[in-house]
Amino acid sequence: MNLSPLRIFVHGASGRMGRALLRLAPERSDLVLVAAATRAGAPLPEAPGLPVLATSALDAAPVFDLAIDFSLPEAFDGILGLCRRRGVGLVSGTTGLSEAQFEAFNALSERQAVLWSANFSIGVAVLRALVQRAAAAVPGWDADVVESHHVHKKDAPSGTALLLGAAVEAGRGRAPHYASLRAGDIVGEHLVQLTGPGERLELAHRATSRDIFARGALEAAARVARLGPGRHDFGALLLAEP
Ligand code: NAD
Repeated sequence: MNLSPLRIFVHGASGRMGRALLRLAPERSDLVLVAAATRAGAPLPEAPGLPVLATSALDAAPVFDLAIDFSLPEAFDGILGLCRRRGVGLVSGTTGLSEAQFEAFNALSERQAVLWSANFSIGVAVLRALVQRAAAAVPGWDADVVESHHVHKKDAPSGTALLLGAAVEAGRGRAPHYASLRAGDIVGEHLVQLTGPGERLELAHRATSRDIFARGALEAAARVARLGPGRHDFGALLLAEP
């Protein structure tokens, strides 16, 4: 059994999620950060001494076993290409990716263990399963997914709303309607509303800290690294026995 810590490269490290990852990674003894990348390549206060590369110079990264990416779609191709060239896995939470980017991600999964999830919280993993079951029970009702996020969020509907929408569709055979709100510093709120004649069922999740997503991504990295090539599912991985 290999007991040496998994060497992690963090991409998008200066962002809200990247900074949470750098702060929380030292909680784990099974992972070690070896370097990070940001657009500017400047040192990061959350991880003093950690080598930080500019995203324009990713090939200078030291040897690593797996990359964790929380960046933006315009930066995603860079980290995907690096993982392909290095022959390592990738865990990504970047939302708003294009079809072509998912195709490239799927191509990487033929050789490496990869995982993309629009949401790395355990609560949303459970909610997905509940939503599919509820939607299947009331296929004729109206279904709406309402999401609220901070004003800096670029994509809408959120990746998580689309994930929950896919669960609605899997349950009742039709996609729901979506509504997006952008206000203040909301970390992330999702409400699935199933409305029938004279009654309404509401299933909701509220994130109050980004740390849940960062901890979930670190857990996903540790678990994915033990698996063979393929595109792995966060919910299935997390809700399975450790
Ligand atoms: P942010 O804007 O705070 O950070 C984005 C990071 O990407 C920064 O480090 C920035 O330097 C880098 N970046 C942006 N454009 C770049 C470019 N052209 N080239 C190189 N680097 C570039 O965003 P955030 O709040 O940290 O979120 C990052 C991503 O993660 C978003 O897509 C967001 O929707 C997603 N997200 C996912 C989850 C989840 O659980 N899956 C949770 C929260 C956020």
